[in-house]
Formats: sequence, C-alpha cells, structure tokens
Amino acid sequence: MFLSVKGLSKSFGDLNVLKNIDIAIDEGNIITIIGPSGSGKTTLLRCLNGLEIPDQGRLVFHDGFEVEFGQTLKKKQLMELSRKSGMVFQSYNLFPHKSALQNVTEGPLFVQKRNKLEVLQLAESILKKVGLADKKDLYPHQLSGGQQQRVGIARALAIEPELMLFDEPTSALDPELVGDVLKVMKDLAKEGWTMVIVTHELRFAEEVADTIIFMDQGQIVEQGPPSQVLRNPTQERTSQFIQRVM
Ligand code: ADP
Repeated sequence: MFLSVKGLSKSFGDLNVLKNIDIAIDEGNIITIIGPSGSGKTTLLRCLNGLEIPDQGRLVFHDGFEVEFGQTLKKKQLMELSRKSGMVFQSYNLFPHKSALQNVTEGPLFVQKRNKLEVLQLAESILKKVGLADKKDLYPHQLSGGQQQRVGIARALAIEPELMLFDEPTSALDPELVGDVLKVMKDLAKEGWTMVIVTHELRFAEEVADTIIFMDQGQIVEQGPPSQVLRNPTQERTSQFIQRVM
C-alpha cells in the first residue's frame, strides 16, 4: 500500500464536508475522483497534502510516515506531508511576475533550498518533458491556459514529490487546449506516477484510471474500476450522475 487514508472527516462550521473517508492507494495507481459540485472532492484532495487539516482521520504512507489528525500536529509533520505530494490547481496559481522557469525553480530553490545549478538543470528537463522547453523565459500572461497549466504541472514535479494530486486541472481551459494537458498527465501515468485526480473528464478517467471514486455529499458512494463505476454502477446516485455528465 502506497498511501492509506483512514476515517478522514472535515467540517467547515456546521457543514460536514467529508464524512469518514477511507481510500487505499497502491503504488503507481491512478485514482480519479468524480461527483457533483460541492460533494467534497477538492477538500479531500487538499486534506491529502495538508492544505486543509481534517478534523479526524489518519494518513499512513508506504515508508511508515503517519499523520494522525484530531490532535496537535507538529510543524515538521505538516511540512513533510506537503513535501510528499505535488498539487496542480484548477486555476494554475502561477506567480504572475515570474517566468515559466522561475515558477518551476521557486519551490526547490527557496523552500527546499537546493543547489541552484542542480535545480536549473532539473527545471529545464521537466519543462522539456511537458513540451515547454522553448517557452521557459515567457511569463504566464504570454502563455495560453494550456501552457500555463503545463507550467503548473512542471512546478509540482520540481519538488520531486512521491505522488501527484490534480484538482480539476482542465476545467478552466478552452476545449481545444484540454488535450495537451491530458496528454502530459497520460505520460506521467505511463511513467508510473501515483496520481489522484479530481476531474469532470469522464472519458479521460475511463482511459487512465485504475480506480474511480464517486463522491456525493461528503461520502464515497461507490468505487471500483472504470468498467464498473462508469459502465455498471451499482448505486442509483452514481448512474444518475454519469447519465448527466457523459
Ligand atoms: P467539490 O470539489 O466537490 O465541488 P468542495 O470540496 O470544493 O467540493 O466543497 C465542499 C463543500 O465545502 C461546499 O459546500 C463548499 O462550499 C464547502 N467549502 C469548501 N471549502 C470551504 C471553506 N474554506 N470554508 C467554508 N466552506 C467551504
């Protein structure tokens, strides 16, 4: 088991957004999370790297690193948790006054305080991997949405995380730009990355996912391989959702 998520719960005030979530993620698995808006998908993803702190639950990683929520956490534990995963956001969240290359080197240079030459080489090779070698000196406003998102993916990869988290990475993009971003994600999947992807792209999910999780109202309603969840759902709520979206 690469990462075990146990009994994760999170409320915002009176709103119980995540209710006792359990997920088992194997190494190299691609998990996609689907479900209606407001069902808790983004919050769940953010809980996996400490951008949100769950009220209860536990994360156990393959190397024995463990975080138990519901008690005071040490800063060092939270830093370790955020270092384990790279997050790709719906709205890219790039630094507007930094070039593509500077966006990618920021984390390893200033947060991880790594060697400058080594970081530059790493960043250039990652930008090449996402097809942006020739755009490294451009600023976000000079790039298309699809290119900005590929910088977002490169930036997440640059901290050399153990798993990648994607929060609706293509939903802000014009339809003709979606394909380039999905292609980069498919390449990462082929390389064996462990990934958790919140998405509305059900066809993409069907193609790449090992497991699809359908969430509604803060709960996992159904999970299984795409052939089951998308083609033969056992729950009425899942089939209604899929009929609406596909
Ligand atoms: P999804 O990603 O499935 O659309 P979210 O996880 O974004 O769902 O949100 C689940 C619910 O939690 C929504 O009702 C949303 O308004 C609420 N919510 C999310 N973040 C916050 C927050 N920081 N403060 C208060 N409510 C929030």
